[in-house]
Amino acid sequence: ETMGLRGGSGFVGRELTRLLKNKGHEVTVISRQPGPGKITWGELESHGLPPCEGAVNLAGENLMNPLRWWNESYKKDLFSSRIDTTTSLAQAIAASPNPPHSWVLVSGVACYKPSLTAEYTEESEWTPFDILSKLLKEWEASALLPENVTNTTKQVVIRSGAVLGRDGGAMKQMLLPFWLGLGGTLGSGRQPFPWIHVSDLAGLIAHALEPPADTPSPSQQVFNGVAPALNTNLEFTKELGRVLRRPTIFPVPAFVMNTLMGSERAVVLMEGQKVIPKRTQEAGFQYKYPDLTSALKEIVGS
Ligand code: NDP
Repeated sequence: ETMGLRGGSGFVGRELTRLLKNKGHEVTVISRQPGPGKITWGELESHGLPPCEGAVNLAGENLMNPLRWWNESYKKDLFSSRIDTTTSLAQAIAASPNPPHSWVLVSGVACYKPSLTAEYTEESEWTPFDILSKLLKEWEASALLPENVTNTTKQVVIRSGAVLGRDGGAMKQMLLPFWLGLGGTLGSGRQPFPWIHVSDLAGLIAHALEPPADTPSPSQQVFNGVAPALNTNLEFTKELGRVLRRPTIFPVPAFVMNTLMGSERAVVLMEGQKVIPKRTQEAGFQYKYPDLTSALKEIVGS
């Protein structure tokens, strides 16, 4: 079986490629850069989708790119790198004479309004309230397939929390300061910190790629891609310090983060949502790393 992966060269894509290849699948990565086992998005647009059983979009300009200032051009790139890639892959699926049986988009939990108390499941109603939730709305809508393929292709959206793993994402930027003993809570630390281990996210995507048992529903099936542990930033900070055996005594004030990152983006770290993976658990998904201790020990390697 072949799987088409857009953004397959990234942090999550590399983990998913490894997992799918171990399961005996062939993987074609769709990338801006040509290379072995890859096609470019220009080729996707001109030659159409290569025959495949499943398609995934993992492309997107990194939201936490520390080298980019929060300005209009960065915001434009965040939108277009997600929405244009998703639209072109959805169009390629719709135009394919042999559409894949599954189509998976990994989006985020920024659609749920940050709150210290509210708990969100996949069924929670939401309307956009800030720039990131607007992005989420447009992004998920751009994945919707036209009617001609909805009864052949299952449509899945996985709303991922912060992805934790050694080779990318948030950990890559946090490990050094924490190692140096400069780690600390962000703001009050009371804000929820929805997270998932990269290996579980890859497992969840692989699960979503399995052929549907019945005729797929015409709408998207949403799964919250978060660990069930429901941690706060303080719990995360203390646990990372404990696993690394480093003190975590330097809280980072909100104004520092807002100045460095822009407040519209710092919201991801300075505030958070209690996200419950209700449907993910009901679907019988087994987490390898359901709690912070096991996840961080695997990542730090002790
Ligand atoms: P990466 O930052 O590793 O990037 C994934 C890939 O996106 C890159 O390898 C690149 O592929 C492609 N890409 C990057 N910038 C652009 C651009 N400007 N235009 C087109 N393509 C681009 O992402 P992750 O693997 O960490 O995340 C995968 C997806 O999951 C993303 O959409 C992200 O928003 C989402 N997500 C990630 C979270 C996280 O904590 N990491 C949390 C929640 C959601 P190439 O160079 O081959 O074209």
